[in-house]
Amino acid sequence: MTDKRIIIAIDGYSSSGKSTMARRLASATGYRYIDSGAMYRAVTLYALDHGLIGADGNPDTAAVVAALPDIHIDFVVQPDGSQHTMLNGEDVETEIRRLRVSNAVSPVSAIPEVRHALVAMQQSLGEGRGIVMDGRDIGTVVFPDAELKIFVDASAETRAQRRFKEMLDKGAQVSYEDVLANVVHRDHIDSTRAESPLRRADDAIALDNSDMSLEEQDAWLMQRFKEACGD
Ligand code: C5P
Repeated sequence: MTDKRIIIAIDGYSSSGKSTMARRLASATGYRYIDSGAMYRAVTLYALDHGLIGADGNPDTAAVVAALPDIHIDFVVQPDGSQHTMLNGEDVETEIRRLRVSNAVSPVSAIPEVRHALVAMQQSLGEGRGIVMDGRDIGTVVFPDAELKIFVDASAETRAQRRFKEMLDKGAQVSYEDVLANVVHRDHIDSTRAESPLRRADDAIALDNSDMSLEEQDAWLMQRFKEACGD
């Protein structure tokens, strides 16, 4: 394989399988994987735990912005190779995946100052290249110069079904209807917000993985990776 180290940006709708795809590609290429959504989730968890989100689900924007200097996010690699998100030194990997956080994250992510702070962190993580990052604005805003950009889509039902199964496997007590409602709601907020809305970068390759097996997807990705490296 080539020595050239590139940046791979994977964007797409909620629960489209971006993180599984990004994690597997990172492991196959020896690249670092960064889950940018986990960073928005960690800020949201902090806001929830500090009473910065009202009963209506909307964040107190000024208070969240004022809290940003107190929010420190890190990723720690586990012995099995997986990464856990740390919020101010505490492992919050399980907590940030709960529906409570999923339901509050999109309005927090729409705050421009939150985006500016996290985008700066994401850009510094990608300085040495050799990184796979997934999110909503990685190919458009964080790394517009990424050598490989992929935009993933699948029907809302397929995506909700996947997320529902994932949550059940983790022992969460949720209904399919609640998960579907969350997916549709987040898609709407994420793609209509004023600041860096979710959209496909003009030079991103579109992938609808509704009917693809993981193995087919891996093969497809590896082919795109080789092309992007010029192999
Ligand atoms: O990827 P994940 O579903 O965990 O992301 C959670 C939320 O974080 C998204 O619904 C979106 O509101 C926000 N997000 C974002 N920009 C990113 C990654 C995530 O706005 N690059």
